[in-house]
Amino acid sequence: MMTVQANKSAAAIDKIDLDAPIFDPKAFRLNDEQAAIVGSARQLGQTVFAGRAAAYDRDAIFPTENYRDLHRAGLLGIAIPKKHGGLGADYQTYAISAAEIGRYCGATALTWNMHVCSTLWSGPLADDLEMDAATRAEHEQRRAMHYKRIVDDGAVYSQPFSEGGAAAAGGVAFGTEAKPVKGGWLVNGKKIFASLSGHADYYGVLCTEIAEGEKASRRNTLYLALPAKADGVSVVGDWDPLGMRGTVSRTLLFKDVFVPEDAALMPRGVYFQAAMRWPHMFLTLSPTYVGLAQAAYDFTVRYLRGEVPGTPPVKRRMYPTKQIAVAQMQIKLEQIKAIWFQAVTEAAANPSKEQVLRAYAAQYSAMEGANEIATLAIRTCGGQAMLKSLPLERIYRDSRCGSLMLPWTAELCLDRIGREALYETGESDE
Ligand SMILES: Cc1cc2nc3c(=O)[nH]c(=O)nc-3n(C[C@H](O)[C@H](O)[C@H](O)COP(=O)(O)OP(=O)(O)OC[C@H]3O[C@@H](n4cnc5c(N)ncnc54)[C@H](O)[C@@H]3O)c2cc1C
Repeated sequence: MMTVQANKSAAAIDKIDLDAPIFDPKAFRLNDEQAAIVGSARQLGQTVFAGRAAAYDRDAIFPTENYRDLHRAGLLGIAIPKKHGGLGADYQTYAISAAEIGRYCGATALTWNMHVCSTLWSGPLADDLEMDAATRAEHEQRRAMHYKRIVDDGAVYSQPFSEGGAAAAGGVAFGTEAKPVKGGWLVNGKKIFASLSGHADYYGVLCTEIAEGEKASRRNTLYLALPAKADGVSVVGDWDPLGMRGTVSRTLLFKDVFVPEDAALMPRGVYFQAAMRWPHMFLTLSPTYVGLAQAAYDFTVRYLRGEVPGTPPVKRRMYPTKQIAVAQMQIKLEQIKAIWFQAVTEAAANPSKEQVLRAYAAQYSAMEGANEIATLAIRTCGGQAMLKSLPLERIYRDSRCGSLMLPWTAELCLDRIGREALYETGESDE
């Protein structure tokens, strides 16, 4: 398999001027521990991942080397509680760290999100939900096993959710089925756009538990970690998309895959409860795109100042049209940052209606806004800036993919905001 090496030595890394944080810890009132975690993500992104991103994108290959570095830095366990050997980051700290990674390599940040969600959803999020004492104790035991694999062995988890039907938008039960059998389940089904396919060690599959003769119900959603090497798991189809090429989001097939009970990342009924009571769980795809928005802006400022490495030191900043475009980009970026920061800060169980509408609006703003900024960046910087030797055209393509991510696509966010703003629960015009 092809590998990509970091193109900078340790001595060279020491000489790099680190970029300013997207969210300045003082201005955004982050504590020292948060600032340190976010800072380590930013440093890794800028000094190592940025140099590898073009090759992963060009060849549409998974950023395996970045995952080894994330493990070494403790960042595979960012949201794993400290008592299990992780960094114990909360939702907000994770989200800001992911934005920093997305600034330098979109595909790494987006796939890292699938991995981290396995621990965030089973960890701090599950802690907010209702379980009886016995179920909680069993969950604690099971998640300890998953966390140990990640912290000790660098195991990577993914989150195949989409199936090509209405399930990923939350409309109907997942078509992938888990039939209860002695000691566990037999899983059958198919997942499309499964990022990390062929590269994760465990696929965190959302599926519906159906006993013989039962009807499928969303209430019976299970979240099971299927070992990638289990009998009956296969990866099919090619992967040659517009953007986010390093995510390697191919199709997964499951044919009578047996998984034991401890494969459950959440106890029975808890995923459904989370989807109802912890809606910000679906906002975690957005940090990557906040990072891409920042990257497009940073590039433009450097380019117009004649400071992009590898390009002639030609300044273009003196033209009023350039200045206006940069002003528009800066305003857009600050708008995205403001609403998004507020939304990730208030993520918790049982949000108010206003908070849920704001979460949709934050998702929409980040997903659409990142591509709007990248589009302006290309127009403003001009033809030389969109060559493949520079990162802007990759940022543009990667940012185009954000608004397609289910369950909160840009269209579905508009749909929900409009409906939920105009109708209270249970209201109709009949
Ligand atoms: C780079 C990349 C990586 C991805 N990684 C993952 C991953 O790791 N795991 C995963 O599970 N998925 C992943 N996805 C899949 C993604 O979340 C979507 O499921 C996928 O893009 C859906 O494509 P589709 O054309 O099948 O959507 P369709 O279901 O055909 O929908 C098309 C559009 O119609 C709209 N729509 C859908 N349902 C409704 C509805 N009920 N009401 C109104 N409008 C609706 C939506 O806006 C949607 O964008 C990834 C996608 C991309 C692009």
